[in-house]
Amino acid sequence: MSIPIHTYDAVIVGAGLAGSTAARELEKAGKKVAVITKLHPLRSHSGAAQGGINAALSDKDSVELHEFDTVKGADYLADQDVVALMCREAPKTIRWAERMGAAFSRNEDGTIAQRPFGGQSSPRACFAKDRTGLTLLQTVYEQALREGVEFWDEWYAADIIYRDGKVSGVLAFNIRNQEKVIFNAKAVMFATGGYARAFKINSNAHANTGDGLSIVARHGLPLEDMEFVQFHPSGLSGNGVLISEAARGEGGKLLNALGERFMTQYAPEKLELASRDVVSRAIINEIREGRGVGPRKDAVFIDLTHLGKEKIMERLPELRDLAITFLGLDMIKEPILISATAHYSMGGIPVDIDGHVRKNSKELVEGFYAAGEAACASVHGANRLGANSVLEALFFGRHVGQSILKDLEHLELRPAKAEDAAPMIQEIETIMGRNGSDTVPGLRNELQQSMTDNAGVFRTEETLQKQVDIVKALRKRFHENCRIDDKSKIFNTDLQEAIELGHMLDYSLFIVQSALARRESRGAHYREDYTKRDDEQFLKHTMAYMDGAGDIRLEYMDVTLGRHELKERTY
Ligand SMILES: Cc1cc2nc3c(=O)[nH]c(=O)nc-3n(C[C@H](O)[C@H](O)[C@H](O)COP(=O)(O)OP(=O)(O)OC[C@H]3O[C@@H](n4cnc5c(N)ncnc54)[C@H](O)[C@@H]3O)c2cc1C
Repeated sequence: MSIPIHTYDAVIVGAGLAGSTAARELEKAGKKVAVITKLHPLRSHSGAAQGGINAALSDKDSVELHEFDTVKGADYLADQDVVALMCREAPKTIRWAERMGAAFSRNEDGTIAQRPFGGQSSPRACFAKDRTGLTLLQTVYEQALREGVEFWDEWYAADIIYRDGKVSGVLAFNIRNQEKVIFNAKAVMFATGGYARAFKINSNAHANTGDGLSIVARHGLPLEDMEFVQFHPSGLSGNGVLISEAARGEGGKLLNALGERFMTQYAPEKLELASRDVVSRAIINEIREGRGVGPRKDAVFIDLTHLGKEKIMERLPELRDLAITFLGLDMIKEPILISATAHYSMGGIPVDIDGHVRKNSKELVEGFYAAGEAACASVHGANRLGANSVLEALFFGRHVGQSILKDLEHLELRPAKAEDAAPMIQEIETIMGRNGSDTVPGLRNELQQSMTDNAGVFRTEETLQKQVDIVKALRKRFHENCRIDDKSKIFNTDLQEAIELGHMLDYSLFIVQSALARRESRGAHYREDYTKRDDEQFLKHTMAYMDGAGDIRLEYMDVTLGRHELKERTY
């Protein structure tokens, strides 16, 4: 087998905010870094972030309040040492981004403008109009290029080389022509982003198929807190495209079919700016009880007309465009139709405070790191606050880059051999060779629809058990009976989508089995049959492992508590 082996100090999979920031940090310190990305870096989902990035900057705010809001928003499942680190470093992260060249929106007096977001004690989200993620991503990418980082874009990372507790490389192929390469490195980092594409109605880019998680899980390594998927209150009706929380932050009101501002019933103090889980449940509840609006009665209104044209054009131009394009509704003139949409993944690849991937609750994997949405650090616990995730990606991207830099002093290169590429070649050949009657779009649609129906905003033992059985059956059909029609090597998107579907099926099983076992309601995980939070039994992280036969085994890991004591959380 002849296959090129490229050697680097560090290889990073993912060119979003987390991956590109880490790469820049390492390259600047003189290390040789490659970033593998299936998309052009600027098409990473980070670029879609609209609303903002949190930091306690103003005199009325404090790091302690930011910490408190994050821990409370997380329904106390966040690790408080990691939260404290992120909140403390947030103001520095903003100033760092600004010095790199990111232009934030400003107040009249020249200070950085901040808008209110759900669950926050003070307006804390810094923003660049409603294009915050794109502004930051462009800045970080430019700076990474300037340092000389090598970006391998439109390359698909298919596997890692993992033996004897150490990761020493990545197997990847060129999407353009299926050329295969081994990336051999002392350190490997995954920054592969989120995975809400498992749900039919979602706000995520097509690429957010959780590849990194399933690749890790197939090696018997754990995934943490997978049951916690955030449903954002405002996706455009019918397709889930995001209308950022900035819309509620700027004053948007939610109305039902009777014209009632229904959040007065659910969270009288915070109204539309209660945490996302609370608002999403309120919306779905209104629809379920027959007070939905729109042609299918499956939406509610968000009304922004009182803001006026000038403010909407200044603060929310992108959101206005989205609603016009997808629904034909102009928010300057009329309310628009929204409902809850699968948005963000709190769970992921378990890491310690410095980004080292966990082998289990006690040991770490050598030479392996993760950051950003793919990782579970766990700063968001059971529910993430708006504008904390761009912060997480940017701060931890940099922090984990620095942690790799430190470790490179003692990490050694374990040379790769051409035979190491065998699992990737095998996977591609198997998928290309299958000729069954199921298709990738068909199976994907069944998965997404059933996940939305059975493992969405509201869950029960019955719906989750049903979904476990559905996902298992779909996995079986995928492995035994799924064909792809394109057998060529040039831009074979059929092949890529099939590999991605394999990943979606695997991590979906983690989501539903972890959710089935968690017999309580906490944050984004709401069980209609166990409506209370149960700290006695479930103040712990789920650590789920998959065996070779595809069965999931669950263990639990302690939550790192801190100065913010457990309290009842109503919104
Ligand atoms: C519509 C929307 C709006 C949002 N708004 C906000 C907001 O206002 N504030 C906020 O805090 N958060 C927001 N978020 C969340 C936040 O944007 C993301 O959590 C964060 O940007 C993720 O960054 P990341 O670097 O971890 O991953 P991403 O930016 O998603 O990048 C993932 C990278 O991994 C690569 N990749 C994945 N799999 C492979 C593979 N197999 N091979 C090669 N490459 C691979 C992709 O090419 C990509 O480069 C929003 C999310 C969405 C969907």
